[in-house]
Amino acid sequence: MDQRTPPTISFDAPAAARRIAAQAAARAAALDCDGSFPLEDVRALAGSGLLAALVPSSAGGAGLGEEPRFRKLADVLRRVGYGNLALGRLYEGHVNALQIIARYGTPDQQRSLFGDATDGHLFGVWNTEPKPDGLTFSQSGEGLSLTGRKAFASGAGFVTRALVTARPSAGGAPMMLVVPLDAGTRADLSSWRALGMRASATGTVDFTGLEVEAGAVIGGPDDYHCQPFFSGGAWRFAAVQLGGIEAVFDVWRRHIRIGGRGGDPHQLARLGEGAIAIESGRHWVERAAGIVADDSLPPDRIVAFVNLARVAVERAGLDVLQLSQRSVGLEGFLAGHPLERLSRDLAVYLRQPAPDRALHLAAAEILDGPEEAGELWRP
Ligand SMILES: Cc1cc2nc3c(=O)[nH]c(=O)nc-3n(C[C@H](O)[C@H](O)[C@H](O)COP(=O)(O)OP(=O)(O)OC[C@H]3O[C@@H](n4cnc5c(N)ncnc54)[C@H](O)[C@@H]3O)c2cc1C
Repeated sequence: MDQRTPPTISFDAPAAARRIAAQAAARAAALDCDGSFPLEDVRALAGSGLLAALVPSSAGGAGLGEEPRFRKLADVLRRVGYGNLALGRLYEGHVNALQIIARYGTPDQQRSLFGDATDGHLFGVWNTEPKPDGLTFSQSGEGLSLTGRKAFASGAGFVTRALVTARPSAGGAPMMLVVPLDAGTRADLSSWRALGMRASATGTVDFTGLEVEAGAVIGGPDDYHCQPFFSGGAWRFAAVQLGGIEAVFDVWRRHIRIGGRGGDPHQLARLGEGAIAIESGRHWVERAAGIVADDSLPPDRIVAFVNLARVAVERAGLDVLQLSQRSVGLEGFLAGHPLERLSRDLAVYLRQPAPDRALHLAAAEILDGPEEAGELWRP
């Protein structure tokens, strides 16, 4: 197949993300139903070059994510999340997959999979699995045979390159595999009857009976959980969440302004508190992205910072939800009011794995640190 060429280093990814986000925001209300998926928006991501923008500059691509302190990537993730959180979730999974491939893939795997991203394939990272029938693989002739399922897999039925974790059936640590999938196959969205994020197609995918080439395996045993990359990558979903929080804030602000309630000191005080929450979240996201990109702290300290950042952004989101609902009142709970939909999406997307653990691990890391507080996060 003739491959299109990826965008090059001069590609203005934040400008592209701003355009896509505006279109996605206009379409989001129509996609707020069970079983939906932002297909046009994903096609727009592909058409704009944002799916291929992760191709490293060393491979002739735009190298989104190579810039100092991940500034552009953080901005792109936030903007896409602002337009539509479901699209932001899907794009974050795509980014995660391509970064893993850039880190662990062989030159041949990279050439082939970066080509797929350039051709418009949507990637996802599917780690969560239903117990007890998680995904396993076994040798089958020259290739590998898969058995089992993945759960809470975003883009199920639409992702055509799934980076999955799977255990060898003979036992041992999980491996990563990139599995090519045909759109519309193996996905079950029937249990995704969620309060929000309805358009993220977060379903169950059954891989049983699927055969892949041995070359589908990326990296070595348990590379997926290698730190600080595994937990440190949480800054990316926090960046998408921040976009969702900003979207709620803007709808809330507009409601107060249009309703002529801006003269009320309680309304203004709540809005001010919301602005503080958002800017705190932004500082956490930018600093976490910077600390991960710089890679100059010990891995445990990087992970601790990102764990604190994700808890801080979750708190900012919960605060903005509560403040905006109090300010707008009952109207903000009525179907058709943008706050109602945006709040549901945000409430669902704030749910990420093991939040208590993130906080206590971060606290345990700094408990015994010999540094003064102001030096904890300095290399
Ligand atoms: C919209 C959306 C899309 C998603 N897409 C994907 C995807 O594409 N791929 C993928 O792999 N996953 C995906 N996920 C799943 C995600 O990675 C998490 O698995 C999921 O969000 C976990 O949420 P939870 O609230 O159930 O977390 P849990 O980790 O189950 O936490 C729930 C509560 O239990 C506590 N808790 C957790 N562990 C313990 C314990 N051992 N003992 C006591 N308490 C505990 C937590 O602190 C928290 O209070 C998606 C999730 C969402 C919301």
